[in-house]
Amino acid sequence: MCMRPITQDLIEGAILGAAVGDALGYPVEFLSRQNIKREALNASLISDDTQLMMAIAKAVIAARTATGFGFHFAKELVAWLDSPENNRAPGMACLTGARRLKSGVPWQEAGGLQSKGAGSIMRAAPIGLALTSPSRVIEWSRFSCLPTHRHPVAILATQAWALAIFHALHGLPFETISKNTMVFLHRRDADLDLILNRFVLSKINFKPEIALGSYMGIGDGWVAEEALLMALYVAEKFGDRFDEAIEIAVTIDGDSDTVGCLVGAILGARHGKSAISDKWLTNLEHKDDLFTLAERLYQRRAADPFLFKTPPWRP
Ligand SMILES: [Mg+2]
Repeated sequence: MCMRPITQDLIEGAILGAAVGDALGYPVEFLSRQNIKREALNASLISDDTQLMMAIAKAVIAARTATGFGFHFAKELVAWLDSPENNRAPGMACLTGARRLKSGVPWQEAGGLQSKGAGSIMRAAPIGLALTSPSRVIEWSRFSCLPTHRHPVAILATQAWALAIFHALHGLPFETISKNTMVFLHRRDADLDLILNRFVLSKINFKPEIALGSYMGIGDGWVAEEALLMALYVAEKFGDRFDEAIEIAVTIDGDSDTVGCLVGAILGARHGKSAISDKWLTNLEHKDDLFTLAERLYQRRAADPFLFKTPPWRP
């Protein structure tokens, strides 16, 4: 059994950690590993990853049912589409889905059937933070994908990620979270075995510069299952050192802001806000809004009608 008191500090850690990882990765998203200078990393502007995570947080706070959540998230996606701040290298699947929503397509059908970019996973953390049972985390995560990403692997990876956040919040060790995630993925899609094998080999060989790359590694993170496993790899290997983990997560050839956002979220959920350096919070864009959303997610969780009906989770 693994239960611990869920504090506001833990939820703030996840939300602010995600934003810090995103902001550190955003300026270097399209740079190769060799061209990223770690000492120059600076968290200021957030990108679409955090913007859409905030959209999901608002929808989770507003909704009481899974379908209500889908409806509210669709509204937030259209608001994001029209926002003047939507100029942070947004992903094509998210833009296309939001445009289809705006034109009147139902949210359950707006997402591309072939879309399995990392856009659905990067924003999902608030679902694992606010809901109090794994089955509802899985259901709401699927609904969070439908407006923009309907490829089965995007949905599966997003469900696995929100569950990983749920378990990190409850204090589970990262190694256990990785193992549970592999079982979850393997049981539902045997085609993922290849990348799961590469994930295991990367952990045994333990060379981050190879693991976090496309050549026989876990990948570049542009697609959902790669981003998921890259983040779990960094969490498992560097999970007790927030600063180093984030720097490793963003110093990659591939999707730096998304892998940074995922690593920041899961380490923040595990360790709380105190693990995040002040130097990275000082100039963070929308810092006050992020704190407010974290506080409201905490209140939303505490008021969850299912809270006291949920049996303790057993690994
Ligand atoms: Mg981004």
